Amino acid sequence: MLERLTTSISGRVIPDCSLRGYTTYRVGGPAEALVVPRDSGDLERVCLFATGEGIPLTILGAGSNVIAPDEGIEGIVAVAPVRELPLVVSGEGAVAVESGMMLDDLIRGAADRGFGGLTALAGIPGTVGGALVMNAGTNEGNISDHLESVTVIGRSGRRETIPSDSLRFGYRTSDLAGMGAVILGASFRLPPGVRDEIIDEVECILGERNSRFPHDLPSAGSVFRRPEGDFAGRLIEESGCRGMRVGGAEVSDMHANFIVNIGDATSADIVDLIGLVREKVRERRGVTLELEQILLPQKPK
Ligand SMILES: Cc1cc2nc3c(=O)[nH]c(=O)nc-3n(C[C@H](O)[C@H](O)[C@H](O)COP(=O)(O)OP(=O)(O)OC[C@H]3O[C@@H](n4cnc5c(N)ncnc54)[C@H](O)[C@@H]3O)c2cc1C
Repeated sequence: MLERLTTSISGRVIPDCSLRGYTTYRVGGPAEALVVPRDSGDLERVCLFATGEGIPLTILGAGSNVIAPDEGIEGIVAVAPVRELPLVVSGEGAVAVESGMMLDDLIRGAADRGFGGLTALAGIPGTVGGALVMNAGTNEGNISDHLESVTVIGRSGRRETIPSDSLRFGYRTSDLAGMGAVILGASFRLPPGVRDEIIDEVECILGERNSRFPHDLPSAGSVFRRPEGDFAGRLIEESGCRGMRVGGAEVSDMHANFIVNIGDATSADIVDLIGLVREKVRERRGVTLELEQILLPQKPK
C-alpha cells in the first residue's frame, strides 16, 4: 500500500509514524502511514487513493483538539498541507487559504494588509480546517463569522465548494464535523481596519490568553464544552479536581478545564482522568460534562 501511495503523491509518506509529534498533547501511538501532502491538490489525491483502496483516512490539522490513541491509528493519517503561499487579500478583503494554514498566520497576514475580523481567534493554536470543523472561537467571535465558502472533498469523492450559508455553525460545532468531508481550503471576506490597531488588538488578546491558559505544558485546550448557564472550569474547580492526576496527566492548576501532560502522559491517562473529573462533577454538582476534545478512533487490536 505504501509504495503505491508514495508514487501517487508528491508529499512525504512516513510508515509507522508516532503521532506524538503531531498532536499538542504529545501523546499517541503510530499511524500506519502518516502523509504530509505538498498542497491541497496532493491532499485531494490522498483522499482519492484512500477511497479507491478502501483504506481508513484521518485528517489532522495542528492536532490541537484531539486525543490520539496509544494503540495507534489504522490506515492513513494525512496532515493538512501548510504550503507557504503568499496570502492574497483583495481590495475587498476576499481571502482564500489552504486548510492547513495556522490561524495566527491568517490573522497576522490579513492584518498586515489592513484587514481584521478574525482577531478573536488570535492565539488558538490550530489550522483553518480544524477550526472550521468545530467552529473554533471565543466569546468574542468564531471562525465562521466572516466565512464565505469551504472547499471540500465530500463522501462522493468529488471536490465541491460549499457556500457558508448552506452550512450550520453552532457553539463548537459545525455541519462539517458530521459530513466526514476533507476540507481543502476556505474563503473569507474580512472587514477593513487600521493595521496597527488590529495588531495591537491581537497582542492584547495574546497577553490576556497567556495569563489565563497554561502554555508551558502540552494540552489540547478546553477539555469539556461549556454547560448551559455555567462554566466547566468553575464546576471542575468546585468539585475539588484541580491538580488531580492520573499517570502523567494532570488537571491544570492554572485553568481547571485544561488537562496538561506533565511529562510522560499516555492517552489512556488523559481519558481516565477525563472520566474521573466527569464522575466527580456529576456527583458533587449534578452536571454531566460533555467532551469538547475529539477522541480519534483507535486501531482495532
Ligand atoms: C493552548 C490551547 C488553547 C486553545 N484555545 C482554544 C480556544 O480559545 N477556542 C477554541 O475554539 N479552541 C481552542 N483550542 C482547541 C484547538 O486549538 C481548536 O479547536 C483548533 O481549531 C483545532 O484545530 P487543529 O488544526 O489543531 O485541528 P485538529 O485538532 O488537528 O483536528 C480537529 C478535528 O478536525 C478534523 N480536521 C482537521 N483538519 C481537517 C481538514 N482539513 N479536513 C477535515 N477534517 C479536519 C480532525 O480530523 C479532527 O476531527 C485550544 C487548544 C490549545 C492547545
